[in-house]
Amino acid sequence: MKTVNIAIDGPAGAGKSSLAKAVAAKLGYTYIDTGALYRAIAFKTLQLGITISDLVSIKQMLLRTTISFRHINGTQCVYVDGKDVTGKIRTNEISSAASAISAIPDVRSFLLGLQRDIASKENVVMDGRDIGTVVLPNADIKIFLTASVEERAKRRYEEQKNTIGSVTYEEIVSTMITRDKNDSERAVAPLKPATDAIILDNSGFESHQTLESALNIIENKLKNAL
Ligand code: C5P
Repeated sequence: MKTVNIAIDGPAGAGKSSLAKAVAAKLGYTYIDTGALYRAIAFKTLQLGITISDLVSIKQMLLRTTISFRHINGTQCVYVDGKDVTGKIRTNEISSAASAISAIPDVRSFLLGLQRDIASKENVVMDGRDIGTVVLPNADIKIFLTASVEERAKRRYEEQKNTIGSVTYEEIVSTMITRDKNDSERAVAPLKPATDAIILDNSGFESHQTLESALNIIENKLKNAL
């Protein structure tokens, strides 16, 4: 059976995961957060004390690593070698490490099969950086969600300000600018809209407006595909 695949790409803090989650809930599809997979690898790398520039050790580590995920009550839980790391991968430190490690081609190819496999079995809304360009180039619908860096940092700050080890707004802006630069300028699977993606700039939008815009795009595309 042909599955329906919806790709949502864009820079950090654009609201991809909230949007993808809401779209998946609305359509009854499975939401896949691919950033969590890169974060899980970054988590293991840091835990082993491996430097991100040490490509040989990272390659060896991948040979002995299993990443998996499961949905529990609508939440995607991520496992590294069978251990649930879901609650440990959202720190600023892991964000930076994930961005750096995701530029390594071996890391990207390690995760490629996992992502394609689920999309071939289920209707998915998958969010990431290269879903429309590399992971699912034949996705039925591709949305590139973006917003100004100030707005994206403000949203991240609101999300994180009450958590343990919270950071300042300025630190978030700075990490975000660096991550955007790393993600867009890397040689392999850089962050960029697919040529057939619809760009949705949600600067100044409330989350319900982003959802309504995306659902309009999806409805129109699916209608035209019939
Ligand atoms: O989406 P999230 O911010 O959780 O992703 C963490 C990092 O993982 C990103 O900064 C990006 O470098 C990397 N990533 C990627 N490709 C994806 C998803 C995430 O390179 N499809």
